[in-house]
Amino acid sequence: MSIMPQVIGVWCRQQGHEVHYVLYGGRSDIVKQIPDNLDLVFISSFTFTAQLAYSISNMLRSKGVVSVLGGPHARCYPEDSCKYFDYVVGLLNKELLLEIISDGIHHHSPGIYLSGKKQPHSIPSVEERWEFIEKGYSYSAVIKLIPMISSFGCPYKCDFCIDSSIPYQQLDIDALKSDFHFILSKVKRPRIGWYDPNFGVRFNTIMNAIEESIPPGRADFIAECNLSTLTESNVRRMRKNGFSCVIPGIESWYNYGKKAGMNGLEGFEKVRQVSAQLNMIQKNIPYVNVNFIMGLDNEQGQEPFELTKRFIDMTPGVYPSFLLFGAFGRASHANLKYQEENRIIPIPFHSHRSTHFTNIKPGNYTWFQFYECVIDLLNYSFSNRALYKRFRMIESGILKWFILSQSVSTGGYGKISFHASILNRLRTDKQFRSFFEQETTEIPVFFRERVKNDLGPQLWSWLPEGALEHDPNIYLKSLSL
Ligand code: SF4
Repeated sequence: MSIMPQVIGVWCRQQGHEVHYVLYGGRSDIVKQIPDNLDLVFISSFTFTAQLAYSISNMLRSKGVVSVLGGPHARCYPEDSCKYFDYVVGLLNKELLLEIISDGIHHHSPGIYLSGKKQPHSIPSVEERWEFIEKGYSYSAVIKLIPMISSFGCPYKCDFCIDSSIPYQQLDIDALKSDFHFILSKVKRPRIGWYDPNFGVRFNTIMNAIEESIPPGRADFIAECNLSTLTESNVRRMRKNGFSCVIPGIESWYNYGKKAGMNGLEGFEKVRQVSAQLNMIQKNIPYVNVNFIMGLDNEQGQEPFELTKRFIDMTPGVYPSFLLFGAFGRASHANLKYQEENRIIPIPFHSHRSTHFTNIKPGNYTWFQFYECVIDLLNYSFSNRALYKRFRMIESGILKWFILSQSVSTGGYGKISFHASILNRLRTDKQFRSFFEQETTEIPVFFRERVKNDLGPQLWSWLPEGALEHDPNIYLKSLSL
């Protein structure tokens, strides 16, 4: 559902190629959707879908198809990806794409890693991408979004973030306005999802463009935004323009204050200020979802978890999302620290997902202490009391039920029972615990079975030899070569 695969589709068509665009959200048989007679395939993959991408690449290469990998996994783990693809791409622009399709030959063991210096200055319009957008629109069962982007990169430097090293670049505003007009001609009341890593860095410019192009009440918007952007006047303006959901990242009570506009504030003082601001935001914007990261190195003891509980009490209408801190290969220069300290666990990519696991041995907790704190906080945040208060604070009937269903499924209860099962396994499964304690690098049966089960028999049979393992310190090693 990302934008770059659509962009690649348009650029390839402009060169006279026939393009098939296949979306996969885990619900269908992807092999059946892949057409015959392909010359070249581009696959965009997150790290947790890497083994799926590797299997598909292996299957298609055996039929003579040239394979190219892009997306976050290619940027984070290029060395590993090059074992299974002919080309692996970091930042892609049109010149680089033309180079790949005119070369277009197999490069075995390893493939070639290519990256542009920066992201493209412009991308094809929504009208040019519409066929692909429509496909994604009808693919989504519940929340139908039209993906838009107004900028690449980010001026902030959060040390865990893949976008922190990409210079901020705003895309053309007149092109954006034309995109709005086109969307309104196609959809009665579109819901537009901003794919900017950090929406609203040039807040007034974007809001002016929306106000000049979209009459009030004709569109809804969802955006990831910094707290420093979400001042009261900005929030009121967003409400007037149809923003129905914002997703600010708090991450930690001891760090990342700059992007929250609270440089220097930490601990309970930060909880108090952030809570007051989010209560103001939630009065104006119906759905506010905040992100927390657990397991950062500058946190220890019960205090960070207790502070988040106070936040839950003080900010009852805001939906909390909890992630475990993880180091994704080359995503950030800061990941080198954990490789230098030999603390990265080579969890197979399929399970390397912040919602489920951390691949960093905690700096200030044992595994048991860490999981006990995480489970305790989640139990508190999705207790009957917290759910009841959250339910009462949300005005919209549809949102009430959406939030309730999120809480009792994957976002809340599901996550609690998953983490509880991992804690239990750490206590009872010797092989599993030894892997997390770095006494062995042998992949536990648990992880192997998860990949096998999720790939299904056909794609499991195409998973290349050795593709469950990876070198967790390859980034560090590459610097000393
Ligand atoms: S503000 Fe958001 S997008 Fe920007 S570097 Fe931090 S986490 Fe990444």
